[in-house]
Amino acid sequence: MGLNCAIDGPSGAGKSTIAKTLAKKLGFVYVDTGALYRSIGLYVSRLGCDTKSADEVTPLLKDIKVELRYVDGAQRVILNGEDVSDLIRTPEISMAASNVSAIPAVRDFLLDLQRDIAAKNDIIMDGRDIGTVILPNAEVKIFMTASAEERARRRFEELKAKGQDVDYGEILKDINQRDYNDSHRETAPLLKAVDAVELDTTSMSIDEVVEKIENLIVSAKAEEDRGFKTIPAFRRWFYAIVRFIAAIPFYIAFNIRYEGLENRPEHGSVILAGNHRTWFDPILIAIKVKYISSYMAKSELFDNFLLKYVIMAVHGFPTRRNSADVSALGLAEKYIRNGYNLTIFPEGTRSKDGKIGRAKSGVAYIASTCGVPVYPVGISYKGHLCFRRKITVRFGKPIMPEDLNIASVTKTELRGAGERIMERIAKLVEQDA
Ligand code: C5P
Repeated sequence: MGLNCAIDGPSGAGKSTIAKTLAKKLGFVYVDTGALYRSIGLYVSRLGCDTKSADEVTPLLKDIKVELRYVDGAQRVILNGEDVSDLIRTPEISMAASNVSAIPAVRDFLLDLQRDIAAKNDIIMDGRDIGTVILPNAEVKIFMTASAEERARRRFEELKAKGQDVDYGEILKDINQRDYNDSHRETAPLLKAVDAVELDTTSMSIDEVVEKIENLIVSAKAEEDRGFKTIPAFRRWFYAIVRFIAAIPFYIAFNIRYEGLENRPEHGSVILAGNHRTWFDPILIAIKVKYISSYMAKSELFDNFLLKYVIMAVHGFPTRRNSADVSALGLAEKYIRNGYNLTIFPEGTRSKDGKIGRAKSGVAYIASTCGVPVYPVGISYKGHLCFRRKITVRFGKPIMPEDLNIASVTKTELRGAGERIMERIAKLVEQDA
């Protein structure tokens, strides 16, 4: 079985452009499910039947055979032996597809075809109900949106570039109508799956969206290849409650500002690496990262009987600071493989003056052995840490394992990777200098 990425969202949100680019980049099969509904819309319209009428459309389905073929990586739709890939791209057929797609028998008719393709390949499938109905177990689910005006503008440019004579107002009206149809139909309406990541692409470039989803797919693939596990719900709930309660005194005592929240991890089994400024840095990071984390803490903290149990309750484990602590590295790896994040402060000791120190080799070692991304976090404040002091916590874009350039896990490579991680953290801090 391959890895399945479901991209759902309203018409014109950019799903097909993004899905095509990603599929090409990652060597996945791209499945444009809208084309299946369009080919049925075409068949029914050609016969002059009412595309909205279940009574007229349902009996026709037995005469329809739709296939997807791939020519030079591009999807072609074959309707009863005829390649209709280009004929289905008109505004009339868009509306016909929207109409037939509300008929339950049509959705049933196309269900197995979509699932069969997904079962055999690594796929990126776009549509309206992929994450909710067709592939509820997809490893990556995206719900892509954009304002109706922006979507109409994009469709207008696309059709104009193809030489079609189109009117922006008409397209916007069409989009609004199709949005309404898609979200109000009874069978499989357009809905965000609870576990989907929502992406509003109104002001994002294609490259930004591609990068974001690519990171999710690469991480999901790493989890699958390495057999990472899911943490039981009761542990996640316990963590969420503790995190919420722990945050309250800090919100009262300090003026905490978060930036770059869009860069936060969207799943577990990653490393969060920050510079070390305050004794409550782990809490500052945990407040905004919903996935449960383990924490590497200096072994001295475990000498205090009470503190030891508090730290252990939130999956903290000790590490000796001045030597390569093999058992701590092993524990970190175990937590990551079990679905936990690892929050780590690579410098080992707190910086009193805010200067960024050198990383110990542990962080790069763990990232490379587990093959997981490192999310840099910059923590900064000016002057002394006093009541209501402004503290900025800034999340940066993840550093993917391949960008750490660790091929043979030598000391030099680990040092180099550690430097790259600290440089990225420093960039998130410097902005306040
Ligand atoms: O995505 P595209 O615009 O090509 O889809 C055409 C129509 O097919 C949509 O307006 C939608 O009503 C319907 N559709 C659907 N479920 C899907 C894909 C498309 O209902 N999975």
